[in-house]
Amino acid sequence: MNHLNASTFEAVTCPACGLLCDDLKIERNATDQLKVTTNGCAKSIAFFERTPKESKPTIAGAPAELKAAIAKAAEILRGSNQPLFAGLGTEVQGMRSIMSLADKVGATLDHMNAYSSFRNTLVVQNSGWQVTTLTEVRNRVDLLVVIGTDIVSHNPRFFERNIWNKESMFGQDTASREVVYLGGENLDTSHGVSPNGSQPTVLPCDLEKIPEVTAALRALILGKSLHAIEVAGIKTTDLQALAEKLKAAKYSVVTWVSSDLNFDHAELSIQNITELVIALNAKTRSSGLPLGGSEGDYSVNQTSTWTSGYPMRSRFSRGIPEYDPHHYRAETLLENNEADAMLWVSTFNPEKLPPKANMPSIVIGHPNMQVQVNADVFIPVGTAGIDHTGTMFRIDSSVSLPLGKLKNSDLPSLNTVIAAIEAAL
Ligand code: SF4
Repeated sequence: MNHLNASTFEAVTCPACGLLCDDLKIERNATDQLKVTTNGCAKSIAFFERTPKESKPTIAGAPAELKAAIAKAAEILRGSNQPLFAGLGTEVQGMRSIMSLADKVGATLDHMNAYSSFRNTLVVQNSGWQVTTLTEVRNRVDLLVVIGTDIVSHNPRFFERNIWNKESMFGQDTASREVVYLGGENLDTSHGVSPNGSQPTVLPCDLEKIPEVTAALRALILGKSLHAIEVAGIKTTDLQALAEKLKAAKYSVVTWVSSDLNFDHAELSIQNITELVIALNAKTRSSGLPLGGSEGDYSVNQTSTWTSGYPMRSRFSRGIPEYDPHHYRAETLLENNEADAMLWVSTFNPEKLPPKANMPSIVIGHPNMQVQVNADVFIPVGTAGIDHTGTMFRIDSSVSLPLGKLKNSDLPSLNTVIAAIEAAL
């Protein structure tokens, strides 16, 4: 990020979704209000232009000094045998400090998005996958198959930056790229219209029928014949035509958003997608591309994996990291009384509130959370990318980007607060 002058920033990285667009221009006025002037989308504007409320630490709802709130948080964790650290809406530096504290107090860790990222993780664990990067997509894709999502509700600028980009490294006419939406109903498919006006192919079906449709498509790619004349309302001939299109493409990309595949055992459908990609690679080139990403979920999983060897839903209570994506789900631990204190973190989003829990609770997060939080200790912290610097992983997990500091802030960073709690134990 370059400073043009004291109040204008260009090439700003946006952490509001997993794309981490790094081309925003932002201006700061005399009252420290930020305005996205170039390359913003509705999501990034809501993120950067949110006015932070005056917020102070509290203990049992009463205003307190930061030092006293830190001491109280340390006291709660010292008295706990089974602390749960959940929410975990943060970036790399924040998560590193959380991992260190979790190791010290024997906490169990769960991210607020683990319910959906877990669908992808299970596939990687079970069979591996072939996925690509946004850079590869931008420069090489000729056929994009979008399964069960419109993409843009999660990643608003995906098509603008990666499909209908004006230039590509190998001189491809990007407007000739083809887009197919498979599954889902009443999706906004307008972003799949090419700049030259070519309409995307849309093969809708009920979201819960995606398991059948992905299994059928995989079978057709493998050369099997289907006796059925339709699958979940999609003509078998249309699926056969899509299978042929994928086989003829030079670089197809098949994409999905795990949070939109919200049905039982969605991981099996994701595995059908990744296995059909593997089948295509016997004769041509194809890649999977998981999209989505929010609240630092990719960064938190990456940091957890390189630090402990495991992604989210791990615990440290026996002195070693242990991973169990079913048992260490925050809601399950709370329902079964298998936690006796909770630390909830949400630094990017004030609307991500902790679940109700009948136990001592510490909430560390966005200053605008305070009015809705009923916690034993609340500590407002800054947001990486606005109040202080940080690092995040992009949705394709292979690229990390620095987040900038755009204004002066009295709010401490999450890692400063967590390190202070650890020191006070
Ligand atoms: S698409 Fe995502 S990363 Fe890009 S500007 Fe919008 S919210 Fe930010």
